[in-house]
Amino acid sequence: MARSASLPSTVLVTGGAGFLGSHACVEFLDHGYEVVVVDNYCNSSPQALTRVERIAGRFVGAVYELDIRDRRALSAVFDRHAVDAVVHFAALKSAGGSLRRPVEYYDTNVGGTTALLHSMHEHGVHQLVFSSSCAVYGEAGAGPLDETTAPRPTTPYGASTWMCEQILAEVCRRRPEYTVLCLRYFNPAGAHPSGLLGEDPQGTPDTLMPYVARVADGRREHLTVFGDDYPTRDGTAVRDYVHVMDTVRAHLLALDHLVDGPGMRVFNLGRGRGRSVLEVIAAFSETSGGAVPYVTAPRRPGDVAELVADATAVGRAWGWRPALTLADMCRDAWRFQQLNPRGYAGSERRPEPDEYR
Ligand code: NAD
Repeated sequence: MARSASLPSTVLVTGGAGFLGSHACVEFLDHGYEVVVVDNYCNSSPQALTRVERIAGRFVGAVYELDIRDRRALSAVFDRHAVDAVVHFAALKSAGGSLRRPVEYYDTNVGGTTALLHSMHEHGVHQLVFSSSCAVYGEAGAGPLDETTAPRPTTPYGASTWMCEQILAEVCRRRPEYTVLCLRYFNPAGAHPSGLLGEDPQGTPDTLMPYVARVADGRREHLTVFGDDYPTRDGTAVRDYVHVMDTVRAHLLALDHLVDGPGMRVFNLGRGRGRSVLEVIAAFSETSGGAVPYVTAPRRPGDVAELVADATAVGRAWGWRPALTLADMCRDAWRFQQLNPRGYAGSERRPEPDEYR
């Protein structure tokens, strides 16, 4: 698809092999961008990028296995490619993991972002789309939450993401050449409609839908529902699930809107509709045609009762409105699970760089 000459043409995607990054790469390739990926595969597989290329019918321009905190390696990527804009997905995202390993989370999420900013600065790259999270809101209150709500993160994950936002806001205040679009995702779920790409975290999934999918197909015995005594309609935690395809579509719009002018803008990405854990289980059971066994356990530290977005600002600014429903998310996640019962493990080998062309 042709794009205006003023828009960025080469996009560096950090964490491009991950759940959101891989789906975004498909969209970017489909829309004519040159895509360069860096990822250390700590929560992903290079096979995801092979799938990206199969779906898009185009190659990712270059893929580098590196840790974004490795400034020398990252700088070499900027030396080799004329990067116009960066879409920064690389981070650790497990709330529970962050309670166990807080330093690792601050180091990766905050240290990774500042390392990236150093390389961008050295190479005159000033356009960034940043992945933030509803976790920054924490115990800010019951929704719908808009972007003016003061963040009150409850975990090192949420706090590290909020710190990144504050650093980016400060950079934009001090350096007028920067444009940062900060997208606060609520709960992205679902998969690419082809069934080739989906959410395949390493180890035990921390997000609900891939866990439910693995239980539904028998790969796991049961789901544990943490907390059934929240002040919600059925006692389980309420979140705002938004389809991954809707979520990555917002990133395409973000690339278009990087040219709107300098400074930092923050937008929520959610459907504005809260669903409880039990409602997600019921919706998934309906899709898969089988029961999803679960047990209940006490609330997890750091979890809050409800996080629901008011996402009207991004609708007004960019015309983004989520098109897909919870039933669509379940259908697509289930298709991915059925076609890839062991995730990307055992799928085709990713070619070496010199086998590409
Ligand atoms: P993911 O774990 O699937 O993807 C992150 C990718 O970054 C992985 O491929 C991982 O290997 C890579 N990575 C992590 N640390 C790295 C490092 N130091 N160097 C290089 N690569 C590294 O997660 P995701 O769901 O795609 O999330 C992407 C971003 O969106 C994260 O910042 C996350 O906090 C944010 N987010 C995700 C959700 C969600 O539910 N998926 C919700 C809100 C916000």
